[in-house]
Amino acid sequence: MKKFIIAALCLILITSCSAPQDSNTEKYSKTVYAMDTIMELTAYGRNAEAALKKAETEAKYLDALLSRGINGSEIYTLNHHGSAEVSAETAQLVTRALDISGNTGGAFDITIAPVMDLWGFFTKKFRVPSDTELSEALSAVNYQNVSVNGNTVTLSGGSQLDLGGIAKGYLSGKITEIFKNTGVSSAIISLGGNVQCLGKKPNGDMWKIAIQNPDGEGFIGTLSASDTAVITSGGYQRYFEQDGIIYHHIIDPKTGISAHSGLKSVSIITPDSTRADGLSTAVYVMGLDKAQELWHGDKSFDMVLMTDDNKVYITGGIADSFKSDFELNIIH
Ligand code: AMP
Ligand code: MG
Repeated sequence: MKKFIIAALCLILITSCSAPQDSNTEKYSKTVYAMDTIMELTAYGRNAEAALKKAETEAKYLDALLSRGINGSEIYTLNHHGSAEVSAETAQLVTRALDISGNTGGAFDITIAPVMDLWGFFTKKFRVPSDTELSEALSAVNYQNVSVNGNTVTLSGGSQLDLGGIAKGYLSGKITEIFKNTGVSSAIISLGGNVQCLGKKPNGDMWKIAIQNPDGEGFIGTLSASDTAVITSGGYQRYFEQDGIIYHHIIDPKTGISAHSGLKSVSIITPDSTRADGLSTAVYVMGLDKAQELWHGDKSFDMVLMTDDNKVYITGGIADSFKSDFELNIIH
C-alpha cells in the first residue's frame, strides 16, 4: 500500500493570548492554498486585513512564477527551453539557490527535478525506479549546469530546475516584507512546516513556535522567538511506502535516493527565510557531523536537529530560548 502524507509540521502556539483590547491589536487570519501547501497567515492591527490580501496575491503570484508544474511559469518555460530570460526576482532566487549548493557541497541541488519525477513525487504516481533509470536521471543533476547571466538562466546537460526546496522560504520572507510595508508589526506566517514571525505578539510576549515531533503527536520542543524564520525539513512530510520501505521527498543528489543521513528532522532558524529553507533541506541530506561543520564555519543561523535514534541537538544561540522534554545536546 502506498501512502502519501502531507503533514503540517509546526504548530504555532499562540498561548495565553487574551482577546485584543483595541483595534490596534485586532487579529486577522487568512488561509491560502499555494505551492501545494495550506498556508495560514495571521496579522494584527488596523492594517492587517489589507496586508493579508496583498500576501495572498503574492503567494499566488510566486506560485505562478516559480512552480515548474504550472504551464507558463518562468521555471516551466526555462525547463522546456533550456534557456530563458526570466524576471530579476527569479534570476536572483536561482542565484541564491546556487550559492547554497556551493556552501553545502551540493547537498542542496535545484537540478533534482528529473529524479523527483522518476519517483513520482511530481505526479503523485509513486514508484521505485530501476538503477538504470536512476543513473540516467542523475546524469542531469548538477547545479553547476545552471548559469545565470543577468536575467538569462541557462541549463546545460539536460538539467531541469525544481525550486521546491527553497520557494516557500522565499515566499514567507516576501510576505514578511509586505506586512512591514503595509504597517503591520505583529504577524505569524505558517507555510506547512515553515514558520516566520514578525515582531512579537501584540501583548509584547515572544512568539512560541513548536517543532513537530516527526514520530507523530507532540513536539520536539518550542522556541521563543521574534522576527525570525523557523523552517523544518523532514522525511515524514511527504513520502510513500512500498514493500515496507519508506521513500520520502528529500533526495540525496549523490545517489538519487531519499536521504538517510541519520537525521529525521532539521529546523533552521534565521531571519533569512530563503537561506533557512535551502539549508534545512541541505542539512537533512548532510547529516549531523557535516551540519556541525557547516555551522562552525558560519554561526549566522541556529539549528534544531533530531537523529533517527531520537537525540536532539541544538546550537548554542537558542540554548536559552528552546524548551524541550528531550535531553538537549548543545552544539558550541
Ligand atoms: P524541503 O521540504 O524544504 O526540505 O524541500 C523538499 C523539496 O525540495 C522536495 O519536495 C523537492 O521539490 C526539493 N528537493 C528534494 N531534494 C532536494 C535537494 N537535495 N536539493 C534541493 N531540493 C531538493
Ligand atoms: Mg527547504
